[in-house]
Amino acid sequence: MEPLTTLDELRRRIAVLACVDETEAFFVSCYLNLEQGTAGYRKVLEDRALAMRSTLEGAARTDFDAAICQIKDYLAQKLRPDAKGVALFSRHFRAGAFFLPMQFAAPLPDWIALGATPNLFHLMALKDNFHRYVVLLVTRTWIRVLEVNLGAATVKAWTEQPELRERVGREWTKAHYESHRRERTSRFLKEQIELLERLMDAGGHTHLILAGDPRLAGEIRRALPKSVASKLVDTIPAASRDTQEDVVAATLSAFVEWEEQESQAVAARFIQGIRTQGRAVAGATACLDALHQRRVDMLLLARDLMPEPGWRCSACGEIRIEHDEPAVCPTCGKNAVKPIDVTVELIRLAGQQDCRVEVVENCDPLMALGGIGCLLRY
Ligand SMILES: [Zn+2]
Repeated sequence: MEPLTTLDELRRRIAVLACVDETEAFFVSCYLNLEQGTAGYRKVLEDRALAMRSTLEGAARTDFDAAICQIKDYLAQKLRPDAKGVALFSRHFRAGAFFLPMQFAAPLPDWIALGATPNLFHLMALKDNFHRYVVLLVTRTWIRVLEVNLGAATVKAWTEQPELRERVGREWTKAHYESHRRERTSRFLKEQIELLERLMDAGGHTHLILAGDPRLAGEIRRALPKSVASKLVDTIPAASRDTQEDVVAATLSAFVEWEEQESQAVAARFIQGIRTQGRAVAGATACLDALHQRRVDMLLLARDLMPEPGWRCSACGEIRIEHDEPAVCPTCGKNAVKPIDVTVELIRLAGQQDCRVEVVENCDPLMALGGIGCLLRY
């Protein structure tokens, strides 16, 4: 059985999908929620496939049928029982096929579309919500390093379902190492901090929470090297009688709160950037220009982003945000113009440049400016 997709794997696959060459054949981008079982997603897929198929004819329809067939085969044979969401990208045409499936511990929305390129919005949103951090749990007699990896189980589900608290400690936490104190010296703490630093470096961890005995945790915090201190999210006091599950649940609450603050800080930076000019831009046209100039630090997308109709020339790459596409490309004169959803193209460009993408929940100014914006590099 294939493993669930990790954050590093997700990053790599987004890069692959963002760079796939266009062909005449359509990509089927298929996201399915598996929480309602086989019957649930099968109906969604059947209904959408039937509707999309009716818009195609000839070779395009044959290619489409082959792409859907591969998706159905995969779903029938390869799904893990613990997967809650699946994303499949499938394209068939005479010269060959492209197929890339991913399974996640997090649910995904049911969402299936046809396009010249893969639609990466939900993968980007998932990447933004991949919750992973390290906990250094310290008591008077031992130190334990834990990695909390929620796959991408959304924080929303966690806050709304208290029964998940137990699973956080049990299933989503992996102990990396545990050291018992041989001596009451600061050398012991120093060694532990060095181990922690190496582990966080090697694993690409960007967030740390200290937990446990308040005095010792304070001592460790003061001794952290700069590179690790900058990754510290919070320090959680815990009594030695608290179970590991309880402590981990408390760290997750702190992590969620910290993330919400971060997201608000991004929205505030965006609003300030729009006011002062030159630090942020809004709307599909300005974002497209900024991406072409490689000036984007972060792409901001509203959760309920609306499609932006436009066209793209597959001969010269020209993109315009206009409802009606011309018969031939005004730039290169070739007959290679195709209608596109420009937001799909913007997300693809961000994926090619490995830009950070933040899916913003509640930001009225962003919605008023078209639901899409960029923070620019200085
Ligand atoms: Zn052209």
